[in-house]
Amino acid sequence: MKMIVRARLIVTMNGPPIKNGAVAIEGNRIDDSPPGSSPSRAARLRRAAPVGSVVDVGLFNEVKARNSGEVIDVGEQALLPGLINAHCHLDYTCLRGKIPPPKSFADWIRAINAEKAKLSKQDYLVSINEGFAEAKRFGTTTIGNLTAFPELVAKIYEPIRTWWFAELIDVREPNRAKDIVDLSVESLKSKEIWGLAPHALFTASANLYRQCEKIARRENIFLATHLAESREEMSMFREASGPLYEFMSGNGSPMDDCGAAILQQRDARPWIIAHLNELAESDFDLLERSRRKFHVVHSPRSHKYFAHSPFPFERLRALGCNVCLGTDSLASNEDLSLFAEMRAFQKNEPRTSPEEILSMVTVNPARALRREDALGKIRPGFCADLIAIPCARSTNALEETIAFDRPVDWTVLDGKIG
Ligand SMILES: [Zn+2]
Repeated sequence: MKMIVRARLIVTMNGPPIKNGAVAIEGNRIDDSPPGSSPSRAARLRRAAPVGSVVDVGLFNEVKARNSGEVIDVGEQALLPGLINAHCHLDYTCLRGKIPPPKSFADWIRAINAEKAKLSKQDYLVSINEGFAEAKRFGTTTIGNLTAFPELVAKIYEPIRTWWFAELIDVREPNRAKDIVDLSVESLKSKEIWGLAPHALFTASANLYRQCEKIARRENIFLATHLAESREEMSMFREASGPLYEFMSGNGSPMDDCGAAILQQRDARPWIIAHLNELAESDFDLLERSRRKFHVVHSPRSHKYFAHSPFPFERLRALGCNVCLGTDSLASNEDLSLFAEMRAFQKNEPRTSPEEILSMVTVNPARALRREDALGKIRPGFCADLIAIPCARSTNALEETIAFDRPVDWTVLDGKIG
């Protein structure tokens, strides 16, 4: 049984938006042969509309008249591919509003550790489930989620497509790197898609990074980490000083990695890197020389909360980085809306086109998650993940899309409405 959905505008992310169009869905995929259409008419429509199933509204009316499939008119709305959040920690959904913007990153780490000490495993389960529901409410249909509790994953039903990353820290037990990695592999390997995320250079040992890379080669999984997030992190590695250095050296962390160039030796796998907020010229030189291009996730609102240095978007893009947007966690953000993330980005980068900004929550993260042929576009053969949002103006429709600031009330996920 096919379903055909008509809308005032189809934002395909595979060419210019189509006014007054319709999308055919067969099962869980976007289809290329609309229901009820004769082969010759379907062929003619495909020629007229190279995106295939995204066709003119005449076909929709024809299908409606023949009553030969489920037909839905979402009215004066724009259909978009479901959004993709490339970096998030749903563990901390329950920490929304608990930590005011800190004076330093080290202060924030102290504050989040104090909050975490009050939470039980059950609290984390509730927090993760609430986070999933909120992400979906804001139009996210795919999420890259880091969890510090991979052992809880088996107890969670994910309502959206989920790339689980085990977030790993061995700062207080560097000799256990292999055990820590093996335990999380055990918890996650039954999942279809998963990865490992050594937390950051100041909390994960060089050995832990190496163990993760070894597993990634063996299992063909994803790798993610936090890098160059704060000024303190940079001064720790470059000058062996600053609040983060003080904090870490007071916590039993071996400091012998200090002074290492932060991007060295992380070249072998396509890492998904959160942040890159605070880079030195030598880091840009390294990026330029690096053969492999990184996927970079920027979280504009969390970035503002911490008052980091301006995100070097244009330089990273020019160096071939695939820049995506993510919400990070609610311990440094107010909600899980990628629309709000796009608006915050646009405020900082007003010269970037709305289409490019939308790419950062659709096409670009699909590439980072190695699903560029299945997610992030409305295109025949792609997963039927769609959202509809109001679209009142016919001009500047993409601008209007980014301005949307309410929950999304119509979603198709894997071909199912809900
Ligand atoms: Zn993060």
